[in-house]
Amino acid sequence: MIQRNPTRSVRVGAVRVGAGHPVVVQSMCATPTRDVEATSAQAEALREAGAGIVRIAVDSRKEVEALGEIRQRTSANLSVDLQESYRLAAPVARHVDKIRYNPGHLWHHEKSRPVEDKVRFLADVAGENDCAMRIGVNCGSIDPRHQDRFRDDPVGAMVQSAAEHCEMLDAVGFTRYVVSLKDSDPAQVIEGNRRFAELRPDVPLHLGVTEAGLPPEGIIKTRIAFEQLLSRGIGDTIRVSLTLPNPRKPEEVRAGHQILDDIASGRFRSVPEFPNDRLNIISCPSCSRVENEKFVELAEEVRDLTRYAQDHAITIAVMGCRVNGPGETDDADLGLWCGPAFVNLKRGPRTLGAVPYDEILTRLKTEVDNLIAARTPRP
Ligand code: SF4
Repeated sequence: MIQRNPTRSVRVGAVRVGAGHPVVVQSMCATPTRDVEATSAQAEALREAGAGIVRIAVDSRKEVEALGEIRQRTSANLSVDLQESYRLAAPVARHVDKIRYNPGHLWHHEKSRPVEDKVRFLADVAGENDCAMRIGVNCGSIDPRHQDRFRDDPVGAMVQSAAEHCEMLDAVGFTRYVVSLKDSDPAQVIEGNRRFAELRPDVPLHLGVTEAGLPPEGIIKTRIAFEQLLSRGIGDTIRVSLTLPNPRKPEEVRAGHQILDDIASGRFRSVPEFPNDRLNIISCPSCSRVENEKFVELAEEVRDLTRYAQDHAITIAVMGCRVNGPGETDDADLGLWCGPAFVNLKRGPRTLGAVPYDEILTRLKTEVDNLIAARTPRP
């Protein structure tokens, strides 16, 4: 058995996270939240596969109503993912067991209101409704104050942002929270979580490699991070974020349990670092915000198309929507984020244009070829 860090216990519905309780595997629904039938069925499928917590995204009042219905139809412990509007926490909280907010998005929304006030609002809502909280920091959406302060240390920015929000919650007497520090690079996830665990050993950690991509590569990246962290006692709940079509979504949960079983039995498979000298395709796990159902197929086609570039250090990011697509593709060499009718193509932070779905692969191949040619020394 692995010695776990002495984090405090945080109850989420019927499960407890931290304080030596078994590591909780969780997942997220990718069906449209307004489709009550499909989302209830997926929440149940994830629960039956072994998800201790199931997350659902809610972005509008209509989705709040749907969530109320979904709550009646599933016995899963539910977490809500708030991205755009923290105020939705008020109508949502009575339907869920946990509220996840992103400090970066919280900073951008209602800029005239101090962040501390918004955090106090969330803590009050959570407290009144018997909800836990997650401070969910993503390397791709850190608030600009931390980005400026930690210009050469993105992991430091992530850790500082999480620590600052812990202090805000502590200051208002709300301690029923967990923290996540995610990135699409397993090495950054390892470093961020190690640094945070040193700083705040009392706070339970939710581990995840965001936009890990398609299986099996996505599972391998995630396993590398989890093996390095869990074997050191860091991590109380995990999510394996995979790009999968809806009927296969429970595979995320099974992959999480498999990794935990392997670690507990001493079956380690990772090398200490993720190789950064090869083609790296990152893609989001999709969620209810996906704007075109062709997204998963597109991610698979991008992987197949670019196999010939395996030996080149090129990162391609494929994202499902406008919420995280534009920002999370900035650091990739080439980025694609899906709109309803077009795929937005980027080279680094620069937008190259909106390309129809049936033309995007040809266009992408040209860009990959150009990158390879530019990096190949002339004879
Ligand atoms: S990029 Fe959009 S579709 Fe993909 S997981 Fe993030 S919010 Fe969901």
